[in-house]
Amino acid sequence: MLNIVIFGAPGSGKGTQSAMIVERFGVNHISTGDVLRNEIKNGTELGKVAKGYIDQGQLLPDALIIDILASVLDGLKDSKGVIFDGFPRTIPQAEALKKMLAERGQQVSAMLDLDVPEAELIDRLIKRGQDAGRADDNLETIKKRLVVYNEQTSPLKDYYKTEGLYNHINGVGALDDIFNEIAAVISKL
Ligand code: ADP
Repeated sequence: MLNIVIFGAPGSGKGTQSAMIVERFGVNHISTGDVLRNEIKNGTELGKVAKGYIDQGQLLPDALIIDILASVLDGLKDSKGVIFDGFPRTIPQAEALKKMLAERGQQVSAMLDLDVPEAELIDRLIKRGQDAGRADDNLETIKKRLVVYNEQTSPLKDYYKTEGLYNHINGVGALDDIFNEIAAVISKL
């Protein structure tokens, strides 16, 4: 089974490229951001808790998001593979994912690091805020999210290098060119 971690800063294009991966390779897509936004939309207790963190540009506590991820994963039946988008975002989350997959006789197949310079990330997120109206896509929250990314999430690059699973992907340019680089990595797995 393919278990792909798509990684990158906010605005790096994880969601867009995930959709293209799903179409080409027939895997399931788990986006923790989408899961949480859906809870918020449905007005659940979890949604209320999540909104507090998301609006502040902060991460949810590891224990909470790890539980959520485990239950989403358990809900997948007869899956050809999974693309993990937005998870892991911390070292404890990466360790939890490794353990969760091992318990199911599986492992992460590859980590794809979508690399985009910070100035471009900010431009993209501001534009997404205007087009799609995501409440966390405003300059103040974007800046907080980038600090959180640099401090808590970007150390995962070294984690996955040590695991021998790291793949650098140039995240700037035409969508198809970016996807072709991704598809070349996945095709070799
Ligand atoms: P981004 O565009 O910032 O990558 P996402 O849609 O992936 O946005 O996530 C939106 C927000 O949901 C994050 O800023 C964070 O508050 C919360 N979130 C999503 N995934 C996680 C996670 N793995 N751990 C903690 N919080 C998360």
